[in-house]
Amino acid sequence: MIITASVAVDVKHPRAKKEYTYLVPERLASSMNIGDLVRIPFNNIKSYGVVTGLFDSMEETADYKLKEVISKEAVSLSAELVDLSRALAKYYGTPIIDFLKLMLPPKVNIKKESVYSICSTDKVISSRAFNQKKVFEFILNNGTVTANHISVSLNISLSSTRSALTALIKKGIIKREYRAVRRTPKVISDEKSYGHINLTMEQQKAVTTIIENYFSSKKTTLVYGVTGSGKTEVYIRAIDRVIQEGKSALMLVPEISLTPQMLSIFRRKFPGQTAVIHSKLSLGERFDEWQRIYSGEALVVLGARSAIFTPIRDLGIIIIDEEHETSYKNGEHPYYDARTVARFRTKNQNAMLVLGSATPSVESYYKVAMGEYLLVKLTKRVSGRPLPKLEIIDMKQEMKSGNRHIFSRKLLYGMKNTLESHKQVILFLNRRGHSTFVICRDCGFVLKCKYCDISLTYHFEDKSAKCHYCGYSVKAPDLCPKCRSKNIRYFGAGTEKVEQEVKRIFPEYRTLRIDSDSTSKKGSMEKMLWKFKKGAAQILIGTQSVAKGLDFPNVALVGIISADTSLNMPDFRCGERTFQMITQVAGRAGRGNTPGVVYVQTYAPESFAIKAACDLNITGFYQEELKIRHKALYPPFCHMLNITFKGRYEDMIKKEADKVKKMLVEKYKNHIEIYGPVPAPRSKIKDNYRYNILLKSRQLQTLIQTCEYMQALNKNSQVDMAWDMDPQDLL
Ligand code: ADP
Ligand code: ZN
Ligand code: ZN
Repeated sequence: MIITASVAVDVKHPRAKKEYTYLVPERLASSMNIGDLVRIPFNNIKSYGVVTGLFDSMEETADYKLKEVISKEAVSLSAELVDLSRALAKYYGTPIIDFLKLMLPPKVNIKKESVYSICSTDKVISSRAFNQKKVFEFILNNGTVTANHISVSLNISLSSTRSALTALIKKGIIKREYRAVRRTPKVISDEKSYGHINLTMEQQKAVTTIIENYFSSKKTTLVYGVTGSGKTEVYIRAIDRVIQEGKSALMLVPEISLTPQMLSIFRRKFPGQTAVIHSKLSLGERFDEWQRIYSGEALVVLGARSAIFTPIRDLGIIIIDEEHETSYKNGEHPYYDARTVARFRTKNQNAMLVLGSATPSVESYYKVAMGEYLLVKLTKRVSGRPLPKLEIIDMKQEMKSGNRHIFSRKLLYGMKNTLESHKQVILFLNRRGHSTFVICRDCGFVLKCKYCDISLTYHFEDKSAKCHYCGYSVKAPDLCPKCRSKNIRYFGAGTEKVEQEVKRIFPEYRTLRIDSDSTSKKGSMEKMLWKFKKGAAQILIGTQSVAKGLDFPNVALVGIISADTSLNMPDFRCGERTFQMITQVAGRAGRGNTPGVVYVQTYAPESFAIKAACDLNITGFYQEELKIRHKALYPPFCHMLNITFKGRYEDMIKKEADKVKKMLVEKYKNHIEIYGPVPAPRSKIKDNYRYNILLKSRQLQTLIQTCEYMQALNKNSQVDMAWDMDPQDLL
């Protein structure tokens, strides 16, 4: 009897990333399992792979001689994770090894440190060897210790301690051994203890519903709770109950909300059982946290997007907080959406999925409406404080009255009053994406695609405006087509500009600016937000990152400089994003004793997304948005796949893209709508040109087939092709 294994091999070349059959040598046969990490020969070099299948065969069936597995590593993924990888590989049209790799620990070793202990007490130490004597006595009294510990306790320099230790080892008096140390991610936090919280009625009801559902149908549940309604506490209670059942829990939060406070709450609530996974961990920390999850020591995993792949055992529940966030989508190879992975994972493990948000995604809201998801509502803030008051400011009117400034008069007076009464102000700008649109500052007219109903993007090179879905293009007009005004131009203001203006107008107050430039360093964003909370500055100017998760009790005024930047993104989700942005930003105001006011500046005061957000009319927003999506055929009424072509030579990319489009049209034209190829909104990044082909279909299966087909296509080595299922943006 011969045993063979299919092994997904980790090789560089995308077309070679496949599963290959290897012979399992007899010495490994009894211990080999699906999911094992193995070393195998590949093209005359040694490589790694994961066993994805094991087969008995009476004799070697292959015509050629099979190569043998070389050895087995100490890491093994569960069959569940191998199945999950296979399902994802199919869904995203990506080699299975690319998903398996996300589940493996990073390639670092267990960190070891040297420790010293006594092995003989009957040897004599010369009385002149003063340090040696002291060190010996210290070890005798304290047992196994590190050199550092000795040095600090005895107040002897580390180098002298080391030489004393070396001498003692030579004499056979003490011995050195190595032991593993855990690198525990540090937490900086001010919260001393986790006080007991009495749930509000609404919270109690939410917890009960989730738990009852957990013990019955395990239907996916959407927790829709306004900002400040205490969702975190609801999640914690649910997790607590699930781990009492001997199961484990995963809670995903956007990277940005993974604040030290969040982690310290979890650590205190689930001491010794919490592991954390996010991108700012060092490799070593990541490795150790991975080990704690893998060994079953950590039952509660708190993490950002990539934590969805950790080898959690006996998974009972996955909670995704701020489920509407785009950061759950990995925007590069291997493309995946942690929310989709969570759906696959909970389904195949019979675990429950909970999604939470103050501004659920349109897709989730639709699933509630269709009866697919259960809905749990938290309608009130725990503090009993009212939600802030929002007010729309029509910037066209400001223009008419002769104010061409970035701040409306109302916002300026508001800032002045707030600052004078010793309260704080947040000014918010959306700079997501890098595109600019064309707007008339007199009448608010925005150039849009007549086919796709999305804003056209201004291109500086040829002064044209292009649609990034279908390629429609016009010359940017000199006069507004609607009101004939000359005040029609591309639009966009940066945080620096706003900061300059604030400093000019309010020189006596301090400002803090938070954007991706000012906070690229690890932990610097937390530090700045912390400074602001402590009152080190009175005015905070920031991009969307400011909109999330933090409590600033002293903030009484929030100004949204321009809701239009978000409203006119070249993206069918721009209405949804604008609604969410305004609601989330407003959630930062009025958390303390002062009721909050939010001013929303816009040239499109009639926009239903802006109106609904300002009226706190969430249902109205979803109903209207769903109507539009239905009419123009966008998700949730269809599925989308975006194919990107990337390379140094524009002609070549265009040619390749045209070729692929032709093939797709021949094969699928009856089932898929095919748009493009069009230059991507950011058409050139680092000397690489980018073109997109966008596919839309009501049939998910057809798009999945297309992904498979793309993988098999013969690739031009000068053109890099990538396909993104359920794209969140087309940048
Ligand atoms: P959300 O995520 O819904 O915006 P949080 O979970 O951040 O709200 O809760 C807001 C604040 O209210 C937190 O400081 C939290 O500790 C506190 N909190 C939550 N539940 C209660 C409660 N039942 N009683 C008092 N304070 C609570
Ligand atoms: Zn106009
Ligand atoms: Zn178009």
